[in-house]
Amino acid sequence: MEKKKDFLRMIVQEDLASGKYKEVVTRFPPEPNGFPHIGHAKAITINFGIARDFEGRCHLRMDDTNPVTEEEKYAKAIEDAVHWLGFEWDGPVRHTSDYFQRLYDYAVQLIKMGKAYVDSLSEEEIRAYRGTVTEPGRRSPYAERSVEENLDLFERMRKGEFKDGEHVLRAKIDMSSPNMQLRDPLLYRIRHAHHMRTGDAWCIYPMYDFAHCLSDYIEGITHSFCTLEFENNRAVYDWILDTLHLGPPRPYQYEFARLNMNYTVMSKRKLKELVDSGKVSGWDDPRMPTIAGYRRRGYTPKSIVNFCNSIGISKANSVVDVAQLEHAIRDDLNPKVPRVMCVLDPLKVVIENYEGSEELDASYYPHDVPKEGSRKLPFSKEIYIERDDFSENPPKGYYRLTPDQPVRLRHAYVIRCKEVIKDETGRITEIRAEYYPNSRSGADTSGIKVKSAIQWVDAATGYRAEVRLYDRLFRVENPRGIEDLNPDSLKIVKGAYVERAVIEEKPDERFQFERQGYFYPDPVDSGGEHPVFNRIVSLKDSWAKQSGKGKEALQKVSKAEPKAAKKEKKKEPSGEAGRVAPLDETQRKIFDRYREELGLREEQANPLARDEVLRSLFEAGLEKGAAPVILANLVLNEVARELKTVSSEELRYGPEELAELAKMIEEERISVKIAKQVFEEMVRSGESPGEIVEAKGWEQISDPQKILPIVDEVLTKYPEKVAQYREGNRKLFGFFVGQVLKATGGRANPRIVNELLNRTLK
Ligand code: ATP
Ligand code: MG
Repeated sequence: MEKKKDFLRMIVQEDLASGKYKEVVTRFPPEPNGFPHIGHAKAITINFGIARDFEGRCHLRMDDTNPVTEEEKYAKAIEDAVHWLGFEWDGPVRHTSDYFQRLYDYAVQLIKMGKAYVDSLSEEEIRAYRGTVTEPGRRSPYAERSVEENLDLFERMRKGEFKDGEHVLRAKIDMSSPNMQLRDPLLYRIRHAHHMRTGDAWCIYPMYDFAHCLSDYIEGITHSFCTLEFENNRAVYDWILDTLHLGPPRPYQYEFARLNMNYTVMSKRKLKELVDSGKVSGWDDPRMPTIAGYRRRGYTPKSIVNFCNSIGISKANSVVDVAQLEHAIRDDLNPKVPRVMCVLDPLKVVIENYEGSEELDASYYPHDVPKEGSRKLPFSKEIYIERDDFSENPPKGYYRLTPDQPVRLRHAYVIRCKEVIKDETGRITEIRAEYYPNSRSGADTSGIKVKSAIQWVDAATGYRAEVRLYDRLFRVENPRGIEDLNPDSLKIVKGAYVERAVIEEKPDERFQFERQGYFYPDPVDSGGEHPVFNRIVSLKDSWAKQSGKGKEALQKVSKAEPKAAKKEKKKEPSGEAGRVAPLDETQRKIFDRYREELGLREEQANPLARDEVLRSLFEAGLEKGAAPVILANLVLNEVARELKTVSSEELRYGPEELAELAKMIEEERISVKIAKQVFEEMVRSGESPGEIVEAKGWEQISDPQKILPIVDEVLTKYPEKVAQYREGNRKLFGFFVGQVLKATGGRANPRIVNELLNRTLK
């Protein structure tokens, strides 16, 4: 289905259809007075994107009319940003300054027409004469100067005979217009300053209102898209072109809402303040919302363009949740990047009963990622694990390594803690452990149950690395500036360890460090002896994510023009998506407790903390003894889905049944897949899970003696695939598992199937 066009594209489409223009020509007109930010990315995507969609052209024009603030390095940053985002401008980079002479000539023409005059009021006087929104202004007494006098003064302004501020050139429009912009707008001012391109050739510079429309006209622009704050300037835009009898074809201005994002400042002035004050390391500091910052941090151009497209184009101002940008980068990286292991806060583990070393096969990609590739993962007696992944006095629901609970080392063996070694301060310095030789991942016949797998790095072959963990630069949703900086926006971890392949194999530029997030070598500081990784984004949003129901949250963040925004929402649902509110204090406490005590994942703890109905069911189920993670999944997936169509009173089951179902999953009496079917039956018939499983014969088959014949059957059926597998096409493993499960109607225990296949396929 074709995506519905936004209102700007509709306009362009109609103008082309009606023959108003033969070709669409747009422009991106930044002022080179700072690095471009994510708001500019939106303007770039719109201007270049529309030109591309309609096979037109887009110009890049530096709007360089204020020599005092503009610099070449900014112009360069703008060009880099456009290219990096994947766009190419038509022809050379253009500059408003290329047209200074022509603009001057147009001004002279206006003077000759009696439509412009040299004013000699001071700045304050001009302001006072302008009036207010409720009171009309008064025209300057100098407006009565003759054309000759104006021409003479204007020429002398240009020649440099006057000081800054002594005179200005103004259009003669309407001092009592309700649109303040029409009250004789300034066209030129005197500035004795060196211009980055024209040097000292000029000492008068055109104002935006005058330069912009005429530059558009000179370049043959058809559609001049700009942000809403220029809405009132449109009248001046039109007045100047009309008064000078320019066109048709001539350009018209259309406004769209600028991008605002929470937890972000987006004005070049404020960003410059951050840079100048040293609060960030530069315009390209990875925490900055500049294109250069995102790029250095490891964001992909695709993720930024996708984000810009996903927020839509609207005419109502609103605030987009920065989580939506973070979502876009996760979305882009998730199906692409290799998974590797890194330990940020290393705790040494000595595996007493392991001697020598080996290299384990470890895939870079999980099953649901359509990519292939693996590395040899060195394993030996000494490894590092994350300090957090061991707990001497574990809270309830702690699933990782404890003195009594074994844990799986990802891609490797199950280990058990034998002894905890501490220094004199009581800090743990080392774990003495034991591994189970027959528990190797993919060939586990040990039968030992573990509740989770953790990352680790082999001490002998791992590399020390610096890891920079970034968080939001501002700690409040609507930051004013420096005073609202988040003091924890950068955490530097000097003594992390990454596995060998990250440094020696480099299967990709970006990585997922398992359980930690997505990472990218810092392009400035990372080098051979000193690897430095930037965290691009964490795996999950830790700042609160919106659950299914979040209407209040939606309204809360929509500050500006709520009415218009609502109306707009119907037309452009994408423009409103992804709004969230942070957890309030009570919710935050619940969230923390669920995370720490129950071991829930963030995406589980968050919606449960927010949604009272789901939470009370969840808590009641816990009391009946259900395993937290499994129960949370049931509540958040199955129950929440049902609650979209029925009210909680209408549910035909309660916490007891949910707990029973969770237990059956935990005990592997049924598979997760079958559990879904059981649930559907519960909804339909109101029977208990036990009754349903019994009646349907859905009990999971875990007896290897029963599964083995089916495994044999499958392998006999696909001899070629078996041969391919044995020749090294390890990807086929999943295929065999799938076939066996299918043959048992999904009832075979996948864990046992895995084990049996591993054994028989060898
Ligand atoms: P800032 O106000 O952040 O300093 P600006 O508007 O002064 O930015 P310009 O260089 O004049 O920056 O902007 C170039 C183009 O980018 C203009 O067309 C402007 O409308 C657009 N633009 C600037 N900020 C945003 C934004 N937040 N969202 C969308 N477009 C933007
Ligand atoms: Mg501006």
